[in-house]
Amino acid sequence: MISPSEWDIIRKIKSRRALEHIENLCAFGDRFVGTEGDQKAMDYIRRHFERLGLEIKETPIAAPCFIEEKPPLLRIEATGETLAGLSPYLGPPTIKGGITADVVDVGEGTDADFEEIDVDGKICLLIEKGLGYLKFWLGTLAQRAARRGALGLIVIHPMPWPYRNSMEAGNSKVADRFCYPQLPAITLSAVEGAKLMYELGRGHTRVHLEVHTLIEERDSLVISGVKKGDEFPDERTAILGHRDTAVPPGANDNASGTACVLTLAEVLSQQDSRRGFEFISTTAEDGATLGAYLYCQAHKDELQRNMKALIDADMISVGGQIKQVEKGLWPDADPVYATEWLMDMVDEVAEDLGYYFGRMEAAWGVAESARFLDIGVPSTWFWAPDDPYYHSTEDSPDKINPNSLKAVMDVSAVVMWRLAQE
Ligand SMILES: [Zn+2]
Repeated sequence: MISPSEWDIIRKIKSRRALEHIENLCAFGDRFVGTEGDQKAMDYIRRHFERLGLEIKETPIAAPCFIEEKPPLLRIEATGETLAGLSPYLGPPTIKGGITADVVDVGEGTDADFEEIDVDGKICLLIEKGLGYLKFWLGTLAQRAARRGALGLIVIHPMPWPYRNSMEAGNSKVADRFCYPQLPAITLSAVEGAKLMYELGRGHTRVHLEVHTLIEERDSLVISGVKKGDEFPDERTAILGHRDTAVPPGANDNASGTACVLTLAEVLSQQDSRRGFEFISTTAEDGATLGAYLYCQAHKDELQRNMKALIDADMISVGGQIKQVEKGLWPDADPVYATEWLMDMVDEVAEDLGYYFGRMEAAWGVAESARFLDIGVPSTWFWAPDDPYYHSTEDSPDKINPNSLKAVMDVSAVVMWRLAQE
């Protein structure tokens, strides 16, 4: 049953407020870790916590920053037509002046494919044939191709808008996040990809590729607002959202989760409670969840002692139904299981409020909650899978459904409140 004091909290949670935070965060431009937009978002979040009278906790991190200095260029040599696309993040640039070579289709890009196809001196073409995001991690394939002499990589994405994937290997172990050699790459939308396919069909296989990327280690912060408890000052429940994004504007991924954190901070910071709350803004989620990993390493013992539960809000407004991810898979680690009692508690509160979240398995990587589960902090992750605008320039605030934010915020607030009081 929802108590009168819980209804009081719920009434104060406004989806309009969360949407304003999303609009403000998206106005900062590119928020990849270490960029100017990351800095602006951090300042915005810090000021917000300060206004609410929260104690500010800053955890310094260093992470590879990715900047696309200008858009990549793909030109069909026979016609002079240029095609637009995006470079995968943390992928290398082409040599000065770019590369000119023939395109060769590498099928699924497996070792077996490469046994049969000569890619030496060529640019590989990889087509995502399903509707999903299975070819998000390009590192392993690029390594395979580069070892056989390939010069570059073109990926065709199934969605009609520009999309950014990653040059990482897709591993959970931070030490294994990259593999070398890498390849300069461009990802084309389905629309631009169709133009390329048409030209290849006419025998126009020679293309010119220029990729203008910059990668350098930069400093950033995981920034938290902390409200101490009245009886157990250091014990607390937490909600986390990563503020960085693969490509701007990043409304669903993950201004949506960040907005939940900021909105719940407004409401819960005004409550007197036996235990406290921590509102966490991470960065470098795009990048093997490095920010959350470093945060957990920096505070491991203290978190194990005092953090009673963590809710991760990552992409909670656009796409399929919002679910709790009960199991996550990485290629290089055992399956990660979310905390059963916490997921049950979420389900119970949702039921009492008339909401419903299903459960699911994440087949191609696990969010930041996995870093907390790793060190023994009970955690769950809210996720709306299958966002068609994922990592695209179309992930804008107008796509956000503010009322799905409300569902996640209401349930999270009651769960956090109950854990603070019981
Ligand atoms: Zn995300």
